[in-house]
Amino acid sequence: MTQGSIRIRGARQHNLQNLDLDIRTGEMTVVTGPSGSGKSSLVFDTLYAEGQRRYVETFSAYARQFLDRMDKPAVDKVEGVPPAIAIDQTNPVRSSRSTVGTMTELNDHLKLLYARAAQLFDRETALPVRHDSPDSIYAELVARAAAAGDPRVVLTFPVELPAGTSADEVAQWLSASGFTRVQGERQVATPTGPRKVLDVVADRFRMAGAERSRVIEAIEVALKRGSGRLTVHALPAEEGGEPEVWKFSTGLHCPESDIRYADPIPSMFSFNSAVGACETCRGFGRVIGVDLGLVIPNDKLTLRAGAIKTIQTPAWKEAQDDLMRHAEAAGIPRDTPWNKLTPEQQAWVIEGSPHWNGKWNQQWYGVRRFFGYLESKAYKMHIRVLLSKYRSYTPCPACGGARLKLESLLWRIGSKQDADAVLAPAKRFMPVGVKWSREQLEALPGLCLHDLMLLPIQRLRQFFDGQLPSPQPSPASGRGMPTAGGELLPLPLAEAGGEVRPRPSSSSSKKSPPACATCTMSASATSPSTARAAP
Ligand SMILES: [Zn+2]
Repeated sequence: MTQGSIRIRGARQHNLQNLDLDIRTGEMTVVTGPSGSGKSSLVFDTLYAEGQRRYVETFSAYARQFLDRMDKPAVDKVEGVPPAIAIDQTNPVRSSRSTVGTMTELNDHLKLLYARAAQLFDRETALPVRHDSPDSIYAELVARAAAAGDPRVVLTFPVELPAGTSADEVAQWLSASGFTRVQGERQVATPTGPRKVLDVVADRFRMAGAERSRVIEAIEVALKRGSGRLTVHALPAEEGGEPEVWKFSTGLHCPESDIRYADPIPSMFSFNSAVGACETCRGFGRVIGVDLGLVIPNDKLTLRAGAIKTIQTPAWKEAQDDLMRHAEAAGIPRDTPWNKLTPEQQAWVIEGSPHWNGKWNQQWYGVRRFFGYLESKAYKMHIRVLLSKYRSYTPCPACGGARLKLESLLWRIGSKQDADAVLAPAKRFMPVGVKWSREQLEALPGLCLHDLMLLPIQRLRQFFDGQLPSPQPSPASGRGMPTAGGELLPLPLAEAGGEVRPRPSSSSSKKSPPACATCTMSASATSPSTARAAP
């Protein structure tokens, strides 16, 4: 860390009496003194408060409303304040699995960064989803047409009509709206029944020969008439060939999957907000459910020897017999230790027959359905007691423990190289509910918020070091974060990690909202964290 100094002049916060002080950075400084001598007034209520205040001021007015504000401390001036985090001494890091995000509330800042700088990927096709405008569509068309050898292109927009619309009615509709041609028509299923979709021609030309203004006008007309959607058919050079189809749309819409997305807002990236939190676990990441570790406590046992502990009592002998009988029929080894069964064979035991038809006496229903049945009988005291032995907090099935809604996890920050440098592709989080293959996920650039949350602090630091330009020092603040154009600028997160100071619990500074003590993986460590980041 570079050597510098923090200069405090005329500090008068609380009982401080016009104190001047220089503190060298890049080394550890301990502030000691008797109770009431003003240690926390100096460290937290002056130094840290000023750092936090300035840090927040570097954000745009929009971003500031999401951050805690601090009052200006009573001090003449403070110079050379680096980014800082204050950590309460009552909140020690006890688990190596505590994340930077949960411990320091850097996630407050990460959510701003994701809302402004992340890239969205479609949940079905894994394609990037961008805001297209007539200008960006024009530029893309020029490039695609040139690459395709300047084919004749037809710009169309979709118009939805009731399925029963006759050809005459279509012709009538066209002439009334000033268009004459239809490139194609198809039936689509909608929630309100089938509809007829016409691809109405807005214009036709070759890109090389068309004036920019004509193309832009056609794009604008098509987007307006097509409710933000536009399709370009690049006609083949030879008769009878299939036209190539290029789809465009405005807003956060994926033309390939036809899924529309909401514009990102910071609360989407917070599991403490109803906007972002997974609806099933409400942002806890865990739910109470059947704990397979308790159901199969000894994975060296075979199915016959009683690997599934729950059904070994005389009361459930029937279930054990069912398992034996159906396992034989399905070719699942009954005398192989559980830990030697393949994942597919284990899944058969847990989830039941893959062709489950609802007939409990014909097929293996699976451990999960067995517990589902027990739940339905939970009004009986002895069943409740039984269930309680096998239940614990388990990762939320809806979000996979990521605590966020699917849509929040489709946003990624950074390039492929940035991501590869800190987290092996095979370890990246597959959001629950996407239709991506593992290969598609691993080819995507950047990391989703859940990936970042799980990174150790050192790697997180490396990630941001690698991908964000370092802030330029500015004479005005000692450490500037240029704010030209009101842009959200790189947060010096990495450096913030360097300034960690213990903080007496008696201090009056405000506490942060508690991270949920029951849902983080580091559950044992969580008491409310009171960390803050500031320069
Ligand atoms: Zn969840």
